[in-house]
Amino acid sequence: MGYVCQWGRRKSSYTPLISASVMDVSLDKSMEKVQLPKGDNWSVHKFGGTCVGTSERIKNVAEIIVKDDSERKLVVVSAMSKMTDMMYDLIYKAQSRDDSYISAVDAVLEKHRLTALDLLDGDDLASFLSRLHHDINEIKEMLRAIYIAGHASELFSDIIVGHGELWSAQMLSSVVRKKGIDCKWMDTRDVLIVNPTSANQVDPDFVESEMRLEKWFFQNPSKTIVATGFIASTPQNIPTTLKRDGSDFSAAIMGALFRARQVTIWTDVDGVYSADPRKVTEAVILNQLSYQEAWEMSYFGANVLHPRTIIPVMQYGIPIVIRNIFNLSAPGTMICRPSVDENEGNQRLESPVKGFATIDNVALINVEGTGMAGVPGTASAIFSAVKDVGANVIMISQASSEHSVCFAVPEKEVEAVAEALQSRFRQALDAGRLSQVAVVPNCSILATVGQRMASTPGVSASLFSALAKANINIRAIAQGCSEYNITVVVKREDCIRALKAVHSRFYLSRTTIAMGIIGPGLIGGTLLDQLRDQAAVLKEDFNIDLRVMGITGSRTMLLSDSGIDLSRWRELIKEKGEVGDMHKFVNHVHGNHFIPNTALVDCTADSNVASHYHEWLRKGIHVITPNKKANSGPLDQYLKLRALQRQSYTHYFYEATVGAGLPIISTLRGLLETGDKILRIEGIFSGTLSYIFNNFKGTRRFSEVVMEAKQAGYTEPDPRDDLSGTDVARKVIILARESGLKLELADTPVQSLVPEPLRATASADEFMQQLPQYDIDLAKQLQDAEDAGEVLRYVGVVDVVNKKGLVELRRYKNDHPFAQLSGSDNIIAFTTARYKNQPLIVRGPGAGAQVTAGGIFSDVLRLASYLGAPS
Ligand code: ADP
Ligand code: ASP
Ligand code: MG
Repeated sequence: MGYVCQWGRRKSSYTPLISASVMDVSLDKSMEKVQLPKGDNWSVHKFGGTCVGTSERIKNVAEIIVKDDSERKLVVVSAMSKMTDMMYDLIYKAQSRDDSYISAVDAVLEKHRLTALDLLDGDDLASFLSRLHHDINEIKEMLRAIYIAGHASELFSDIIVGHGELWSAQMLSSVVRKKGIDCKWMDTRDVLIVNPTSANQVDPDFVESEMRLEKWFFQNPSKTIVATGFIASTPQNIPTTLKRDGSDFSAAIMGALFRARQVTIWTDVDGVYSADPRKVTEAVILNQLSYQEAWEMSYFGANVLHPRTIIPVMQYGIPIVIRNIFNLSAPGTMICRPSVDENEGNQRLESPVKGFATIDNVALINVEGTGMAGVPGTASAIFSAVKDVGANVIMISQASSEHSVCFAVPEKEVEAVAEALQSRFRQALDAGRLSQVAVVPNCSILATVGQRMASTPGVSASLFSALAKANINIRAIAQGCSEYNITVVVKREDCIRALKAVHSRFYLSRTTIAMGIIGPGLIGGTLLDQLRDQAAVLKEDFNIDLRVMGITGSRTMLLSDSGIDLSRWRELIKEKGEVGDMHKFVNHVHGNHFIPNTALVDCTADSNVASHYHEWLRKGIHVITPNKKANSGPLDQYLKLRALQRQSYTHYFYEATVGAGLPIISTLRGLLETGDKILRIEGIFSGTLSYIFNNFKGTRRFSEVVMEAKQAGYTEPDPRDDLSGTDVARKVIILARESGLKLELADTPVQSLVPEPLRATASADEFMQQLPQYDIDLAKQLQDAEDAGEVLRYVGVVDVVNKKGLVELRRYKNDHPFAQLSGSDNIIAFTTARYKNQPLIVRGPGAGAQVTAGGIFSDVLRLASYLGAPS
């Protein structure tokens, strides 16, 4: 203990050169009446290690101090970033008798020397460097002693590690002074007096500290003070620290001593997030937290704030603001008493849960036995045994049967605790009154925090159902009567998944949809581009959050865990695409447990893809498609699909199968659901055939018009695919089935416009070459029609009354709506019981990538509104 006498007591021998901060600690009677100008005119700032990590950053901090227009400022500063770790490492090396501690000390010296050279000049620089060298020499001597003893006392450790703060405070105050501001630096060991407690914590002595502060201020009156964070003294003037991350606590104590207007804690994030942003990318900044909420968040592992920071400021109602030094435009998080508004006003709409935090490396201990029930003193005996080994109990849970008591302790303490309990309860265990003291290692704690959880029913139900959905087993649960916090213990390997699952349950909008796009061709690609352009507006204005988690073609697929960047989806498929695998694709899009809804969008024309719809719907995946294959395929499969859709809350939308973006299916549904009776649906359903017959008039030849349509890109590569009428027939079947008819495609007579002899012709080109030979037949039909004041139109008809569908070339009077058509428009006429004399007509462009993708997109939004999106 010889060293304790030499360095431990705060005598001027320890810091002869830091004379500004050294004082005689016995109270001078003449100063008793000195009044510190406390109150609102003080603002307290705390700059964390990252804020003062380099000389540039220290200059930036000085700038912020100068710009604060408060009348009086007290600035608490941490050691340069990573410095405290480096100092602890010196001690660890020395006590492990690792010689490299010497070079490690030199690295500490060098870092500060270079920073000072950058920041200071003249006398300031000379005096700082001389103090630095002196301190480093002392540290070396202490480390040498530790090296010899092979052990570091807490006192030595505290003295050594506290130097980081001493140096950063001195440098910062000199830089502020250089800017022309009168600024003093404070060695807080002269002012802050704390009593060590057993659990690696210290309790501030506010009365003593206040007296010392008054005295310090009398000797160093200044409107700007830069004080060391982290360090303090015991009542016996022995240097100590506020323990790891304690500078936040220092700032709060200072705030309370000065009765400051506000304590601003500057760090490297925009404020307190709803969860650790390193673990949950979706975490959001919380604008306001109550003291209680902030305390719970920090206690349960949100290391943005030291948990003990709250108490000193809370008693005076001093707000704490957490701000990002690297993003001054962010307003930060305000921690204060909840305003009346918060409970009454707009916050009512918000989630009752504010945030989530986790503690890793904990173990559960379960003390179990029938002999515990009704026996007073068991819990006290358990916890006094735990206290005796100095372990910290993080949470406790006891079921009311009193059959078992379960609690969590840091993993590193569990062995000692278990041993203490075994020996304390030896007799009870032997006698069978206790059955076991069991240890569950490798656990994590997940805490859910929010003051408004109190008296809001259903919060824990949502929480547990989110965990259940993510298939996470809960080992223990605790909820205090304050209801500000629900704590669960899970296996460590489940912790991040658990955190993400509960976070998304409370923070993602109910209308967040994980989407998988199948077939990124012309239509799928256009849809992706439309989603890209509209996503931000939907999220902002309608709270609809669409995330494309996967895109798959027939050969390649692109998967993402959080949503594909749609501004680059084409490049990303090339860069990061993997071999397409439908099973893996679906599992990926649906398999994440964080997004509440999944929708697969089939933009192919593939019957194989369509054959999966039933299985997807059964899994709870919503399906949206312009692909006609499922609804016009075998009747029994169609009926199965529709039956499933009706039974479940899973949706199947296919507006774009008929008339692209035109509201045809939805119009028909609307009529049926409101009790109208459909008599007949008749329409021009093919954009290609619409174009051809709108232009086939007078002396024009049919083959010439088909060629023109082909060249304008209106037809399929092989125009026979359009002229055969099959595509129109599929649409007729879809509408017929939607109207309640049980028809098969094969039951629908289709008049093909491909002349019989040309149906087997090998290539499209050959077909086009030979088509003119057959012009004569259609020319005659046209002539007859025109002579009668009529036009030719290729139509699909659903004759509901006679339960029939058909596709054929028909003649219409020149004043019929179908005769007025131009371009490639579709037109559909619904004749119903209500619309009997004048049919209800829907008309407009019914083909093309933009309108088809638009139709699919509007189905996606229909889905979102079914899921509860605001209108
Ligand atoms: P400083 O050195 O400024 O005191 P800390 O590293 O002690 O900084 O605390 C800030 C860090 O806390 C952030 O960088 C962030 O990674 C982490 N953190 C953990 N949980 C949260 C949370 N809920 N909100 C904000 N930051 C958090
Ligand atoms: N420098 C100390 C630490 O790293 C205190 C702090 O920065 O809050 O623990
Ligand atoms: Mg910190």
